[in-house]
This record gives sequence, structure tokens and C-alpha cells, in this order.
Amino acid sequence: MIKKIDHVGMAVNNLDSALAFYRDVLGIEASSFEDYAPDQIRTAFLKVGDASFEVMAPTSPESPVAKFLEKRGEGMHHISLEVDDIRAELKKLEAKGVALIDKEPRQGAHFIVAFVHPRSTGGVLLELTQKPK
Ligand code: ZN
Repeated sequence: MIKKIDHVGMAVNNLDSALAFYRDVLGIEASSFEDYAPDQIRTAFLKVGDASFEVMAPTSPESPVAKFLEKRGEGMHHISLEVDDIRAELKKLEAKGVALIDKEPRQGAHFIVAFVHPRSTGGVLLELTQKPK
């Protein structure tokens, strides 16, 4: 079951200058930071009520986020939906012919995640995430 929109992922070139916008203009502070080696990114989570922004900047030109920025520039990268059972959701989507980037859940920067391909979702990269109970 899909529980809620958990966060919106934003791709930026420079984390510090992006966070200055969120802090100084919007009044939203980062609540946690993480270096996520597998994707070569540094992320910040900024809570907004029940949801968050995940602001991500590449730490290497080889990062998938660096490639995203080259192609599309800064902006929204993905929307994350919190689900109660990520394996069950993936099975359901696969049975309906949805293109999955991750057929198996994997450890993301913060939680267990799996990505759904934008070609099946109207152009939006969807991230399913399951949090520890
Ligand atoms: Zn995310």
C-alpha cells in the first residue's frame, strides 16, 4: 500500500548554494546530511511538515546525478512514495507491465528504495521507499 508522498528529490550542482536558498529564502533548514557513495552524491533532507525535500549534489562527474544535471539541468529529480511493503509493491507494478529500474529493493541514501522508470509514469522518476517499522 502506498502511504504518502515521502519526499521530493531535487538535483543541484552545488549543495551549499542550494541550501542557502532553502534556508534564507524559504526558512527551511536541513535536518540531516549523508554522503551516499554508490551514487557519488551528497544529500540533505529538509523537513516540510510531514514530507521533505531531498537536495542532492554529485560528488563526482561519474555520478548519475551529474549525468542528470548535464542532460536536464537543475530541478526536480524524483518523487518518493512511502510504501508499507516495497517487495509487494514491486511485484504488483511488474505484473501490470510497469518498467522498473530496480526489480529488487536496494539500500538508498536513507532507506530501502526501488526506482520506477519514467517511461511508465508519465515522465516522472518515482522512488518507492520503505522505512523501518
Ligand atoms: Zn529520494
